[in-house]
Amino acid sequence: MRLNLCIDIDGTITEPYYWLKLANQYFGTNVSPSGITCYEIHKVLNIQIEEYLNFYNQLGERLHLEAEVRQDAGIILKRLEEQHNLHYVTARESKMTHVTKEWIKMHDLPKVGLHILGSHYKVKKAEELECDIFIEDRYENALELALAGFKVLLIDCNYNRSPLIYGITRVYSWIDIYEEITAYVAREKSKKIA
Ligand SMILES: [Mg+2]
Repeated sequence: MRLNLCIDIDGTITEPYYWLKLANQYFGTNVSPSGITCYEIHKVLNIQIEEYLNFYNQLGERLHLEAEVRQDAGIILKRLEEQHNLHYVTARESKMTHVTKEWIKMHDLPKVGLHILGSHYKVKKAEELECDIFIEDRYENALELALAGFKVLLIDCNYNRSPLIYGITRVYSWIDIYEEITAYVAREKSKKIA
């Protein structure tokens, strides 16, 4: 059974706190990963959103290029690519297309469809891609997707530890993600037989 897997990039394939060192340097702050308890970076750093946007305009490309890959993400994505249809679905803006492709190449990640939405709203794209499972780190996205009927694997981060609803499963690693997907396929197959 070949599933359509939609996969977010930032915080899901990347290390979720990769931007912190550069942000701390830039703003003269001293926030640690344990302090990142909400998704909005300007709130975490206690700065104005305009200041954050300036920072991102200046250093966004560098941040994306220097982002580290989460442990085991590369090897698991390769394995998943053999069995399923993968799609990267990111809220990044279209001007980040080039660096995103570069980064994917640099880390030898599967070269599959890249959907750069420029918006956090991912339900429409999930529908278009007939998504079976969405892998995501942003809590609000997970809720929206689950409410629209999609199955979501929410990869654990300090900023997404809110109560989950039906359709969302919290996972802690890419090994976990692989096991959840394998179990899902087994369940779906046994449903078909029954
Ligand atoms: Mg993300």
